[in-house]
Amino acid sequence: MSTIRVTIWNEFIHEREHAVVTQIYPRGIHAVVADALREHAGDALAIRTATFDEPEHGLSDAVLAETDVLTWWGHAAHDRVSDAVVDRVQQRVLEGMGLLVMHSGHASKIFRRLMGTSCMLRWREAAERERLWIVNPSHPIAAGLTGEFFELPHTEMYGEFFDIPVPDELIFISWFEGGEVFRSGCTFRRGKGKIFYFRPGHETFPIYYDANVRRVLANAVAWLAPTGSAYFGNGRNITPSLSPISSRHIVDESLHRPK
Ligand code: ZN
Repeated sequence: MSTIRVTIWNEFIHEREHAVVTQIYPRGIHAVVADALREHAGDALAIRTATFDEPEHGLSDAVLAETDVLTWWGHAAHDRVSDAVVDRVQQRVLEGMGLLVMHSGHASKIFRRLMGTSCMLRWREAAERERLWIVNPSHPIAAGLTGEFFELPHTEMYGEFFDIPVPDELIFISWFEGGEVFRSGCTFRRGKGKIFYFRPGHETFPIYYDANVRRVLANAVAWLAPTGSAYFGNGRNITPSLSPISSRHIVDESLHRPK
């Protein structure tokens, strides 16, 4: 199997500005996500990280051209992410780059752009228990999980209605101690690219140290890697035809020209 080139993008603001978060993620969430991926699939991955403060948020054309899977964690600076970078990431997804959107990334410009909806939801930070039910056990993203569900002892709640298009596949549904439910693991396809939204990950809880969460992240990256044929787009007017067409038809080209 060829190496999957992963770029882990993290806003990296809370970890530098809030003592509670610094304590949990002293090297940043991106470093812990990188550790999780290395733990499960180190040999199969070439990992780099990128953060908001870097020029072009660390996501230049050159970096994206060399990225098979991009992971996205953001919260405080969604609105300050450059539209040019969002355009560029969207284009790469359409070309086949995988995108893993984590937790509060639901409200990022790139996820909302790709979904076409508000992607908003209800939330509550009360350190409550979350039970993630596996509702698609044969899916590669659930590989290696044991049991019918896994739990996180203290989480921020996300509740329905989650304003997303109907997912192509639903892999996890969360139940929360306070009573809400949420579609926590959803896949989508846009163009040639695969997208996975994975809910866990609030910055004031040590979610990315959890063994099951780490396994899901690694599984997701493997699943998100580009697959399929080399064909992409290539929309064009096909004349002459590949084989003879018997009918006679005169095209009024004036209909196809913009006024
Ligand atoms: Zn959160």
